[in-house]
Amino acid sequence: MAGKGNLYLAVDVGGTNIQAAAVEASGLVIARKKRPSPRGVGPEPVIEAIEGVIRDLLAKGALAGAQKPAAIGIAIPGVVDPANGQVVVTPNMELSGVPIGPRLERTFKMPVVLGNDCNLGTLGEKWLGAARGADSVVGILVGTGIGGGFAQGSRLWRGARESAAEIGHIVMQIDGPMCGCGNRGCFEALASRTAIERDLREAVAAGRETVLTELVPDGLSVIRSNTLRQALELGDPLVTEVLGHAAEVLGYACLTVRHLIDPAVIVLGGGMLEACSGFIMPIVEKIVGEDCLPGARRGGDVLVSALGDDAVVLGAVALARTEIGDDPFKKGSTAAPTYPEIIVTKSGRFKAGEKSFGRDFYVTVGRRAKSQKVPLDETSDARPRITPEHLLRPCEGGPEVLFVGTGPSDRVELTEPARVYLRRRAIECEALPTPEAVKAYNRSTQRKAALIHVGEKGDKSNYSGPERG
Ligand SMILES: [Zn+2]
Repeated sequence: MAGKGNLYLAVDVGGTNIQAAAVEASGLVIARKKRPSPRGVGPEPVIEAIEGVIRDLLAKGALAGAQKPAAIGIAIPGVVDPANGQVVVTPNMELSGVPIGPRLERTFKMPVVLGNDCNLGTLGEKWLGAARGADSVVGILVGTGIGGGFAQGSRLWRGARESAAEIGHIVMQIDGPMCGCGNRGCFEALASRTAIERDLREAVAAGRETVLTELVPDGLSVIRSNTLRQALELGDPLVTEVLGHAAEVLGYACLTVRHLIDPAVIVLGGGMLEACSGFIMPIVEKIVGEDCLPGARRGGDVLVSALGDDAVVLGAVALARTEIGDDPFKKGSTAAPTYPEIIVTKSGRFKAGEKSFGRDFYVTVGRRAKSQKVPLDETSDARPRITPEHLLRPCEGGPEVLFVGTGPSDRVELTEPARVYLRRRAIECEALPTPEAVKAYNRSTQRKAALIHVGEKGDKSNYSGPERG
């Protein structure tokens, strides 16, 4: 594949941290750096922090010997004017009015392109995530606010005023709670993380009991996503009620998007949504599934972000590639990275790249090989079962396909929740006895990952076939 460049830089300018990554044209992240976002000190320190984190990346050993990056994509939490490389307004950062594109082009002597962070997150999911292959996608990112994006073909729909897809401010309850934007009853004022925390705190102040007061001993000012999931798993009535309401609002927002745009895929993302997807998604799917105004064909799936935090940087890379005339959405324009081959050694151990494993392990789409920390239970007589918890790490980064080695005697089974977990992220799964799974993994030319169950000690004598290493 003759691309115009093989290396790109992407910067995600967030309210807390400025994160930067060096990314190959394949979407493989080869180096990362971050710096805290300066606050309350005007724009110059913020620009210097962005320049600093780019310099940190360029100085990093991982880039030694690599070719010069072809372009830089910058994700801004606000409205931008890409034609002039100018930030128009950033409500939670001091970059409003700053012509940051031309400034960075002068500093680094390469093309710089700006985009809205949620727009770019959507573009990232369309390129390599849950919406890959879909012609049109709407992204909804639930965080402290709710952001969105709409991409069709190779392009983002940015709107006449560069402010399309501000989905968080669709009014969903007339005279509802006050929103940060000044209107009432916005989607974001009902279903963002901030709204959920507000509703939980108000209920506790009104005397409702919840397990959260034990799980979060220092008050409920910040409630982590995993704490909410824990409370749901414990069946806490208040958290179930509040999150259930937010999920309903989210479901009706998806229905609204569908009726307005009818995208091939809607992708939902954000830390809380991803952590609690097992609870939220069935509610959303039910509302969308019972739509009384169906389309002409099947489709219009609502999926969960497969790229997680990397969606934004990968979207920035997709935009940067487009900027220099190398459309990443053109068929055949993005080859998968090269992956470490998995080898079974004579002693029944496994090698993946430099690493050797005698127990269960996984290889991610980011080419990291690690031993599987969540054990597959082989002690009982029942067959070991893979649950969503086992899939979290192996599926990081959103592979197209996950190869699951089910042990030498094919004992491991995928539970239905695990299959649903993969389906909701558009991750294909090939579950095969371990020797065949290894061969299929090695043969595959897709963006791939593997989760390999090695098996019990006595089991290992069952490994046969081409032994190497
Ligand atoms: Zn609003």
